[in-house]
Amino acid sequence: MTEKLPNKFAGAPCATDEHTEWMRKHRGSRWDWLLAGEDKHSANRRRAASAAICTSCPLTARKNCAALHAELVDHTGYTVPGVWAGEIYRDKVDSPNRVNLASIPTLPFEAEAEAA
Ligand code: SF4
Repeated sequence: MTEKLPNKFAGAPCATDEHTEWMRKHRGSRWDWLLAGEDKHSANRRRAASAAICTSCPLTARKNCAALHAELVDHTGYTVPGVWAGEIYRDKVDSPNRVNLASIPTLPFEAEAEAA
């Protein structure tokens, strides 16, 4: 019998069925930097609202969220824009020397795993 791993994001608003439905409808997460067809003004308002929702996220999930973001940045060397743990990380404009991870179709560590 396999042991079930603890859910590091238990209770997180972004991990609810409601948000899954939202993602299906909008073809992206409300915590993304920019959604297809979204103008700058709408994206700004949505990101601010999403960051506010993060304040209701359980502390453990929020800490894990911040840690995951830091890990992705460290591991890939790319910017990882969007809303993470209530912080809004801008697209590559703030880090012109880094490629925006969101624009890369296959993550490097995914490609390594596929090749192995
Ligand atoms: S803090 Fe992170 S895990 Fe929690 S709702 Fe915000 S984006 Fe989701």
